[in-house]
Amino acid sequence: MDLYEYQAKELFLKHDVPTTPGEVCTTPEAAEAIATSIGKPVVVKAQVKVGGRGKAGGVKLADDSAEAKARATDILGMDIKGHTVHRVLVAQASDIAEEYYVSFMLDRANRCFLAMASVEGGVEIEEVAANRPEALAMIRVDALDGVDQAKAREIVAAAKFPAAVADQVVNVLVKLWAVLVKEDATLVEVNPLVQTPDGVILALDGKVTIDDNASFRLADYDSMVDRESTDPIELRAKEFDLNYVKLSGEVGIIGNGAGLVMSTLDVVAYAGEEFGGMKPANFLDIGGGASATVMANGLDIVLNDPEVEAVFVNVFGGITACDAVANGIVQALAMLEEQGTPATKPIVCRIDGNNALEGRRILTEAEHDLIELVDTMDDAARRVAELAAARKAGK
Ligand code: GDP
Ligand code: MN
Repeated sequence: MDLYEYQAKELFLKHDVPTTPGEVCTTPEAAEAIATSIGKPVVVKAQVKVGGRGKAGGVKLADDSAEAKARATDILGMDIKGHTVHRVLVAQASDIAEEYYVSFMLDRANRCFLAMASVEGGVEIEEVAANRPEALAMIRVDALDGVDQAKAREIVAAAKFPAAVADQVVNVLVKLWAVLVKEDATLVEVNPLVQTPDGVILALDGKVTIDDNASFRLADYDSMVDRESTDPIELRAKEFDLNYVKLSGEVGIIGNGAGLVMSTLDVVAYAGEEFGGMKPANFLDIGGGASATVMANGLDIVLNDPEVEAVFVNVFGGITACDAVANGIVQALAMLEEQGTPATKPIVCRIDGNNALEGRRILTEAEHDLIELVDTMDDAARRVAELAAARKAGK
């Protein structure tokens, strides 16, 4: 999960990384009030999870609270690279003498972390890397050794930070490493890290990516999830602990096992070409133990997607035998009916593997109007694409 700048700065504050005081808000009036309480020139900053806000006009200085209100009015509602600005951070403005760059990121390919630092910050670091690679120091960080004072000195020396600020930058690097470790981040980036005319080092921008696999052990994780910009169906799936990804097509896909679901996406996309370009509407892996409840939750999620016209349940029975899965589907439809939200979209099932015959018998005998049983994955994909196209055309 990527964090907003204001959230990244809250983590900086928590770990004593020097930054400027500020507060986030959603209205020009609130921006004015924050500027009043800061009582000094401020910077009004669009909070969107995309870089280059400055260039896009989403970062503006304001001398007083009236101006802060005006700048917030300009910025709120702006579109920055397809992201609408719903919030602005109003922070005390800082004078800038120099702009630097520092970051730590997980380097999966090399099984370590990578520290990057440059005294040419402020601009997009990709530009520095492409045009002046010698100005970007890259130092490998061992995951177990981490970044202590000595390692931080090595980074500072490699990037040729001026001697006058070296100690402060070392200090910031050690603290940023603490943010990475304690907050289970895979990326911590500061651009720009500035030197003020008084020679003080401050993090003026922050980007932090939290490893979602660590969500269970981060006390603040839930409060950092941005519900308004997350797909509501994805939020519900997460509550059910389901592996769900929303896609843009019309055919809902439910399968057991990520590999099977991925190949189902391909087969459906291919079959869909014949029916006006029907495409998968989602990826939903219900995992190995597909109980009735899990199946009910899965069907509920997929059927609730308004873009879904038909559902493909593709199951290969392994540890969980097909009869259990078939019972799961039948019970799931009964549960949805009891809840007062009966299914209304066709469900094509392909059931194979352990105890497939019994599973198919259960589905056939259920004689449910919506369930259609197809023997092979390819035929089932064609059928579900056909049904989706017909239902879409009928609207
Ligand atoms: P980004 O464009 O999304 O990376 O947003 P930043 O937070 O990095 O801001 C972009 C640029 O605005 C920075 O590189 C600075 O040059 C400038 N800026 C940001 N905050 C301040 C501030 O407090 N004072 C001054 N003078 N400039 C600022
Ligand atoms: Mn920046």
